[in-house]
Parts: sequence; structure tokens; C-alpha cells
Amino acid sequence: MRKTSHEVKVGYINGVEKEEVTENQTSFYDLELHPDIEDGLEAMGFEKPTPIQSEAIPHILKKKDVLGIAQTGTGKTAAFLLPTMDRILDTPDNGKVKALVVVPTRELAMQIDQATEGFGYYTGVSSLAIYGGGTGKEFSREKKALQQGADLVIVTPGRMLSHLNLGYVDLSELEFLILDEADRMLDMGFHQDIMRIASHCKKKRQTLLFSATMPEKMRRLAHDLLNDPVTVQLALSKPSENVKQSAYVVFDYQKDDVLIDILKKKRVESGIIFTSRKKTVNQVVRALRKAGLKCGKISSDLKQEEREEVMLDFRQKKIPLLVATDVVSRGIDIDSIEIVVNYDVPPNEEDYVHRIGRTARASREGEAFTLIVPDDMQRFGRIEKLIEKSVEKLSLPENVGNGPEYNPNRNKRRGFFKSKKSHNHDSGKKKPKGRYGKKR
Ligand code: AMP
Repeated sequence: MRKTSHEVKVGYINGVEKEEVTENQTSFYDLELHPDIEDGLEAMGFEKPTPIQSEAIPHILKKKDVLGIAQTGTGKTAAFLLPTMDRILDTPDNGKVKALVVVPTRELAMQIDQATEGFGYYTGVSSLAIYGGGTGKEFSREKKALQQGADLVIVTPGRMLSHLNLGYVDLSELEFLILDEADRMLDMGFHQDIMRIASHCKKKRQTLLFSATMPEKMRRLAHDLLNDPVTVQLALSKPSENVKQSAYVVFDYQKDDVLIDILKKKRVESGIIFTSRKKTVNQVVRALRKAGLKCGKISSDLKQEEREEVMLDFRQKKIPLLVATDVVSRGIDIDSIEIVVNYDVPPNEEDYVHRIGRTARASREGEAFTLIVPDDMQRFGRIEKLIEKSVEKLSLPENVGNGPEYNPNRNKRRGFFKSKKSHNHDSGKKKPKGRYGKKR
């Protein structure tokens, strides 16, 4: 970053320090947004800005570049959309693109497009979402819409570059370049695409960059794209008190049985099972279906239309369970998810908070379970440190047998671990049938 002129730390809405949120007394009227936007907020039932909104919006209205360190669930979408729309209303309607929002996934693009329609209902601000996948017909429709111009365009990087390379997109009047979930975009290998898109935008613009985490590569991107930014950072990420967190300490071969036991006992109507790897998604889906549990899957392997169909079925509760990887999970904005199961401990501690934040949204109650195998104990220990809480470890269901003992100080490299009864090496692999008496 060239210079960080100002830095503020605020609390979470979903990953919350509750007092911090309720202490935040600003009203949307204090932000002096355009009356048509205030009408939209009222229609959507938004009464008070969330911390990230009350901190970021005034800076954005003052034309400052902003680096927002915030996750989904904090209200960050409105934090950048509301002031952007406000500023668009002050510019002449000349059929040119005024704001470009770049996001990692099609799902997120659609969500932001819907939010724009909601907030902007009374404003006449036009928006358009452009994402990968889809047919040639869709590409032509997008091309036409881009040529005619929309005030606010929400894009995934690859698809936008395809249009930009064909030369008909005019970004000469672009006032805002907004990058949302920038860390995810970097994880997905979009760094070059982002830089190429930025090179098409006019230099004298306002850039807003939102990211849940701040690894070194993010800092470099921020340095390259932002000019004298204000950093708005959320306080330590703590999960909402409304999420009841617990964990099962298991051997690898016990995972499926424990998962099935949780889901059957809870009779879950809406639940997500997270895995860190695409390969595991298919394996879990097979195990659930074999156990008679209806589920869908969502990973970056699926075609866009397939993903959309699964999400719709899940939203409408036609399928009660969704098995998903982290990459596509960030944008999931469904308020009534009862339960989240971490089939494995997420590789990144922040992702734990993010995953379990999918439940207990909008003041509802939710439950989160994590399956911890010996190799993940140390990592789970780091998560407990991050959330400043020891997560309750539950006894395994009777039919599953004994699991290992929880030891977050276990040295993974030494790799030797004794279970309470078996005194066997924990290799994380299946145990021989017969001795353990369980066929899988
Ligand atoms: P986001 O972090 O932008 O994905 O927002 C998370 C959820 O909080 C969405 O369902 C929003 O509609 C909702 N939300 C955002 N800001 C507010 C607010 N000020 N008041 C009530 N709900 C909000």
C-alpha cells in the first residue's frame, strides 16, 4: 500500500462481539445517503448500519480508496454498494459503466446483483451481472447490455476479460473499481486477470478492495491497486454466540459413521457439510446417499448451471443437505441453515469462523460440529486459540467405537498417537476389518 492514512477496527454482525454491534448507534440517516436509497433500505427492513457499513460508507462517500477486511455476514455488500449507488446518482446518466464489481464466483455475482436491485429499487440505478459459463446466446446478451451500458456491472474475472478483449466495453467513465472477496480470487488464480481488468479502467478512479484475510499476496495486490487507502478492519473474528459449537475427535475411518449419526439424529432440514478437498466431496456424497440421506454437492468441478440448480434446490429445501468445498461456500447467503458440519478441520483458521458463520444468520440459532482426526488436532487447537474458546468434545456414538484422545499439542511430524483402548498407531487410515469389527 502506498500509505495507510487511517485505520479503524470494528466488530462483526455474524461473527460477533454482540455489545460492539449494539453499541453502534449510528442510523442510516446519519450517513446522509440519497433519499431513494433510504427508501430501498426501509423496504428491505434495514434499520441500522452494521459496523463495517458505518465505518466504510463515510470514507467511500468522501471518495477515499478503502481496504475492507471483512467476511461475508458482516454486511460488507451494502458497505460498498450503498455509497457507490449514492455517487452514481450524482453523475449524469450517459449510458456508460460507472462501477465495476469483480467477484470470484457466479453465485456471489448473482447475490450482489440481487442486492443492487433491492437497494436500488427506487433509484433507477441499473445493474448487470456477467459471469462465466452459460451459452453463446447469453454472451451476446451480455455484449449488448455492455454496449448499451449499465451503471453497475458485476463480473467474474474470466468472463469480463473475454468481453474486454473483444474491444467494445467502454470503461472510460468508470468511477469505481470494486474487488470483493479478493483473497478468494487470488486463491483461485485470478491475480493476472484482475490486473488486466484494472489496466482497462481509467487511472483516476476510486478503488475498494474487500477481503476476509490479509495474506502477503493480498497486501501486494492492495499496494498495486489502491491509492492512499483507508483500512477498515473488523476486530478479532469470533463466531456468533448463537452458534452452538462442538466437535468429535475421531479416527479417519470413523468420520462417515459419526457424520451420518449426527445428521440422522438431528433430522436436519437444512445443513451444509464442508470438506477442504474436491475429492472428498464425492466420497461424502456417496456415503450419505448409501445411508439413505438426500444430498446435493457443490464444488468448482460442477458446471455453472449445475451449481445454480443445486443451490436453488437447497434454498427451496428440496434437498436438505449440501456437501461443499470452501471455494464455493463464501457466497452462500441463506438465513435458515440449521447445522454446519466440518467434515474436516479447515486449513485456514479464519475459514472455521467463516464456515460456521453459515449457520445462525439473522439472529437465528445454529449448530456447528467439527470432526477432528489426530493430524488435525494441532490446527484445531489454533482455531480454539483464535476464537478464545475451548469447543466441547462430544462422546462418539456407541456404534462407532472409541476415538483418539484430544491433544492439540500433538506433534504431527512424530505422528505417533495412542487411542484410549486400541494402543494402535494412528495412521489416519482404515483399520483392519475384524479386529475393529466394522466393515466400511
Ligand atoms: P453480507 O455480509 O453483505 O453478505 O450480508 C450478510 C447478511 O446481512 C445479508 O443477508 C444482508 O442482507 C444482511 N444485512 C446486511 N446489512 C444489514 C443491516 N444493516 N441490517 C440488517 N441486515 C443486514
